[in-house]
Amino acid sequence: MNFKKTKRYLFIAVLFLSIFVITSCKPRVYKKAGLLKSIPLHIIIVSRSEPKWDTIFKYVDSQTSLLDHRNILSPLNKLNSTGRAVMPDEIIRIIREALKIAGESGGAFDPTIFPLTKLWDFDHGGKLPEKKGIERAKKLVNYKLLKISDNNTVVLPKGMGLDLGGIAKGAIVDGIADYLNKLGYSQFLIEAGGDILMQGLKLNAKWKIGIKHPRKDNEYVTVVSLGRKDKDKNSAAEARASRISIVTSGDYERYFEKDGVRYNHIINPATGYPAHGAVSVTVISDSCIRADALSTAAFVLGYKKGLEFLKKQAGTSGLIIREENGKLQAEEINNFPAVLDELDL
Ligand code: AMP
Ligand code: MG
Repeated sequence: MNFKKTKRYLFIAVLFLSIFVITSCKPRVYKKAGLLKSIPLHIIIVSRSEPKWDTIFKYVDSQTSLLDHRNILSPLNKLNSTGRAVMPDEIIRIIREALKIAGESGGAFDPTIFPLTKLWDFDHGGKLPEKKGIERAKKLVNYKLLKISDNNTVVLPKGMGLDLGGIAKGAIVDGIADYLNKLGYSQFLIEAGGDILMQGLKLNAKWKIGIKHPRKDNEYVTVVSLGRKDKDKNSAAEARASRISIVTSGDYERYFEKDGVRYNHIINPATGYPAHGAVSVTVISDSCIRADALSTAAFVLGYKKGLEFLKKQAGTSGLIIREENGKLQAEEINNFPAVLDELDL
């Protein structure tokens, strides 16, 4: 082989190698499914290499255990069984956010709903409690009686308890997003049982999010396109600003039927019975914790009051669906990105 030929072969080899290196380093979409306790969790990350899934899911497990009042090692469990517990800062932050939404919703959202949710027992499929029991438990639900002292000690009167089920999923999803940022990922989607957070775009396009049909399994009333491009990938503040969260609370998530009546897992603290003014509430907001709490709150408030409540929430839009005589009807607030006439109700 002469020198000229060798040089040409070498040149072609280097060219192919460079093309291979460039294409293999191109960002790709990676997906992984897992569990948030018993709730399905999906994480999609745009990355140049396989994400560090083990590290990510270990973090998810630690947060889920911390925030689960059923976990006997969690401070929430201690609070519910003894009336007093010292909480880590992250739980205090969530409790404070829950108390804020409780105040704004006039107590429709109430994190001290525990005595009632324990009675309805939706963790084990749900059961219709006796009226007397409901009346007794109702008196033990009042977020105004929860006290937080300077050293993070939370105190509740005897018989009361905390159930952060209406806000914890959103808080955990926000926490996962912060953790993914720490690991250096800036474009991703996290979905945990109806709570979704997106940061940045899916490669170069918006994310497509289906809003579940409340009465037809595996069907959507609409699909919305969401996503915000981050202006500067290296700035943590910019990355956070490119987040959008969308959360749905629905009466189809957990319910049982008795004598033709549907009893769902979201309880109206005023009556002690499941809220029935809406069948599905979807909220879009800048954080998942907020979208989560607001959707549960609006669900309890029902169609009209829920819409009025969401209207007052800055940076938030919503879609509420109700059922009247077997027919579904929808209303949106603050420019929710769906055309009402085009919904598949
Ligand atoms: P979500 O699916 O986010 O709407 O939350 C439903 C969960 O919130 C229930 O499973 C309970 O753990 C909790 N919950 C039920 N009723 C209320 C209420 N009125 N206020 C706050 N949390 C509630
Ligand atoms: Mg919620």
